[in-house]
Amino acid sequence: VISTTDVTKDFGRMRALREVSVTVQPGEVVALLGRSGSGKSTLLRHLNGLERPTSGAITVLGENVTTLRPKALRALRRRVGIIFQQFELVGSLTVLENVLTGTLSTLRGPRLGLWSYPRSSRLTALGHLERVGLLEKAYNRADQLSGGQQQRVAIARALMQNPEILLADEPVASLDPDSSDQVMRLIREIAADEGLTVICSLHQVDLALTWSDRVIGLRHGEVVLNTSTVDLDKSQVMEIYGRVASSTA
Ligand code: ATP
Ligand code: MG
Repeated sequence: VISTTDVTKDFGRMRALREVSVTVQPGEVVALLGRSGSGKSTLLRHLNGLERPTSGAITVLGENVTTLRPKALRALRRRVGIIFQQFELVGSLTVLENVLTGTLSTLRGPRLGLWSYPRSSRLTALGHLERVGLLEKAYNRADQLSGGQQQRVAIARALMQNPEILLADEPVASLDPDSSDQVMRLIREIAADEGLTVICSLHQVDLALTWSDRVIGLRHGEVVLNTSTVDLDKSQVMEIYGRVASSTA
């Protein structure tokens, strides 16, 4: 469902991506590993059409992202959900309202208050909250929730679009180890249940190995690793650490 061919991205004299060629199969959960500045966010932004490559081609859900017109690009983006390290919830709104802002109708214009949403959307939102284990928090203010709970709300909000792909940019970077594990387990389960394709950037190698099907490692914008997790054993884990997470050279 996703493929990039020789994607290179320059920001001025800074080369952020170097001839990145990767493919992701439908339903696959791929972890994107790499040190800070290795190009993880930049690659994810390309997959969503938020950046245009300096050279190379990108296909997402059968569409050539690099040449799409704005209207077609917006349509494609609705099929691609995204979550971030900072959950970007509106703290003063209820959890349920935050989830509802992920509906398609909201993307066409803001809405005020819970009751301006159709009943069907409210029921769908409650269903997603149940899915992420937070039904009982639906009417709490979002800023009363723990970090892990807020990220689960952000996942429920992303599900409102019925996405075929979920891009997650360091979704657990600001969470403690237990919450990180919970959020990754949830992403993994939803991917399996819904046939969702996931690309998730991470800093922790152990989480990548536990919860993903495949690991793509970036270093200085270059793909240095692209291996199924079933083919990796413990000694290879250390090798990944060496190649992805250590030495800036
Ligand atoms: P982190 O783990 O810290 O989030 P990352 O792997 O996501 O890092 P990117 O944010 O993709 O890294 O950045 C890759 C490189 O591209 C960095 O050197 C960064 O400074 C540069 N870069 C990213 N976006 C821009 C931009 N809009 N303008 C200029 N340089 C940019
Ligand atoms: Mg980043």
